[in-house]
Amino acid sequence: PQAQPLLVIENLAVHYGRIEALHGISLHVANGELVTLLGANGAGKSTTMRALSGLHKPTTGRIMFEGTDITATTTHARVRSGIIQVPEGRHIFPGMTVLENLDMGCYARKFESKAAYRETLDQVFELFPRLAERRGQYGGTMSGGEQQMLAIGRALMARPRLLLLDEPSMGLAPKVIAQIFAIIKQINAGGTTVLLVEQNAQQALSRSDRAYIMETGVITKEGAGRALLHDNSVRDAYLGVA
Ligand code: ATP
Repeated sequence: PQAQPLLVIENLAVHYGRIEALHGISLHVANGELVTLLGANGAGKSTTMRALSGLHKPTTGRIMFEGTDITATTTHARVRSGIIQVPEGRHIFPGMTVLENLDMGCYARKFESKAAYRETLDQVFELFPRLAERRGQYGGTMSGGEQQMLAIGRALMARPRLLLLDEPSMGLAPKVIAQIFAIIKQINAGGTTVLLVEQNAQQALSRSDRAYIMETGVITKEGAGRALLHDNSVRDAYLGVA
């Protein structure tokens, strides 16, 4: 569904020292969309995520969110405006319970009332019944798939306007990956805009409205998710079939 753009990245370049990792990329995400940034190892996907969450300042270019230039704003300000990231590798708190981990998600975006908190927690538990069952279990003792659910649940506790997911399929079994992607689709269907970074082309492209292909710091292709899934060069490079 094409609506007004929520996020616009224009000509973004990012350096690590003297090495340019992003060579001026441009992309946009409309309100309500599920968009994938697909690329191999080292393509610059995590670098793009870090620039979006304000952890790494770009050298040139700009980032617009809801029509406002946020390029120079802090990570904290971006979180407050609803840009919430689920980092690669999940980074849950292993020594805290599931519920305590979820509560950490509200740390930077306070609830106006106890009822609003309960409502959001109930929504998370509805999406992830496993988290409800295991609310007293330590995060570190959960399986990889459960930890990914917990990381996504924690992000949802911050009520994202834009949910950034960095390789949610990483290190998970195919069956669990399919489950996670189905839930991501459900979150998006509930009205949350999602920008997803992935290497798993099959799952990501089949679930996305649109996708961008990224290769060594440049965007080489853009299109509807399903169209790219059937694109020969994409299939060749990312699906292992010609
Ligand atoms: P992966 O899927 O392996 O995480 P990626 O697409 O997320 O890959 P990035 O991590 O964004 O890729 O890396 C893009 C480029 O920037 C790579 O060439 C990488 O070596 C380089 N790079 C990333 N982080 C740093 C850093 N802290 N210092 C120097 N170079 C870096």
